[in-house]
Amino acid sequence: MTRSELSDHKLRAQQRVAEEGQALIALSRRIHETAEIKFQETRSSQWVADALKEAGFSLELGVAGLPTAFVARLGTGSLNVGICAEYDALPVVGHACGHNIIAASAVGAAIALAPLADELDLTITVLGTPAEEGGGGKIFMLQHGAFDGLHAAMMIHPAPIERDAMATLANSRIFVDYTGKAAHAAAAPDRGINAGSALSLAQAGIGMMREHLRSTDRVHGIVLHGGDAMNVIPERTKGEWCTRGASVDHEAEVFERTVNVFKGAALMTGCSVSITRNGPLYADVRTDEDLATLWRSNALLLGRASLPSQPSDGYASTDMGNVSYAIPTIHPLIALESHGANIHEAAFATAAGSESGDQAVLDGSTAMAWTIVDMATNEALRRRLSSTTFRVADVDRSERWLGFDSDSEITYP
Ligand SMILES: [Zn+2]
Repeated sequence: MTRSELSDHKLRAQQRVAEEGQALIALSRRIHETAEIKFQETRSSQWVADALKEAGFSLELGVAGLPTAFVARLGTGSLNVGICAEYDALPVVGHACGHNIIAASAVGAAIALAPLADELDLTITVLGTPAEEGGGGKIFMLQHGAFDGLHAAMMIHPAPIERDAMATLANSRIFVDYTGKAAHAAAAPDRGINAGSALSLAQAGIGMMREHLRSTDRVHGIVLHGGDAMNVIPERTKGEWCTRGASVDHEAEVFERTVNVFKGAALMTGCSVSITRNGPLYADVRTDEDLATLWRSNALLLGRASLPSQPSDGYASTDMGNVSYAIPTIHPLIALESHGANIHEAAFATAAGSESGDQAVLDGSTAMAWTIVDMATNEALRRRLSSTTFRVADVDRSERWLGFDSDSEITYP
């Protein structure tokens, strides 16, 4: 298809993005400058919600008990497509993950489709999803039914590369607390139980375990507390660790082996250990290939050389992964000119507030709107997508990707 063969729907969507372009860019820049971190995105979420309200969307604020989460909806069509708007920044480096672009392009796509919703028999749902950076906002929204009724979900993510999907790993974050017994390190070491030794042995054990992990598995962590005084046998130590795998099942294996290492170090030293989850499990993204192919062809029409994810791509994690276990999902990457910087680096925050970031807002809006037009008008795809409607109540609560075990605790012995 060439540009001149764009359907009337696509032309109208593109026109609408052009008309709203300056407002969308201003929204992106405002969120970028404000840079509110996880669960504190009060102003950013309000600006996004306001823009949708102005375009005729109904609004439900504070969903899932999260003050900065919302669901906006327009239309009553039989195909219900969700667009996720992230808007949280990172501590210190601000919008180095470019979530301002995600938020503004979600608004852009939604506004572009609003006048077409009835003709295309669509319901457009925009989910304001807080705290992607470690808070797992989407997972709590999933649990509370905010994604119920959807047939597909999408968002774009800025990156240094142009891809129809992001290479992802499932991950769990844990706190590890060892408890031993304090004693004078010179006068009565025989009376002590060394929680510092337990943590050191655990690190050595994890290092040796790595030899036997898959190339996509990861275990990494830091010591948060190593003791209180050099001449006192440490009674308490604390670390924070992360386990990752290419799927929720792989991650579960890495998680179990890592927990066993922490328990083993407790047994060797006579300490006790408590392991608690620091937030819900993030699942890997299971890309819907049909939707990714549509995205790619639309991105190409806009002059973006989008590719499928490549073996050399680095891995990241996102709570959109959990959504993808529930609903057909895409999470394509849209490239910014970042002069070599990758996401979460300070220079990427600069790119997210640059003209290249602005162009990503416009192209992201248009390509998402076009992809949704394709979903609505391709009969076979539409039939497949609308054949299953997600309801969280239909899912077994023990499914790890739903994250209901996110505050579970493992103690040993
Ligand atoms: Zn991100």
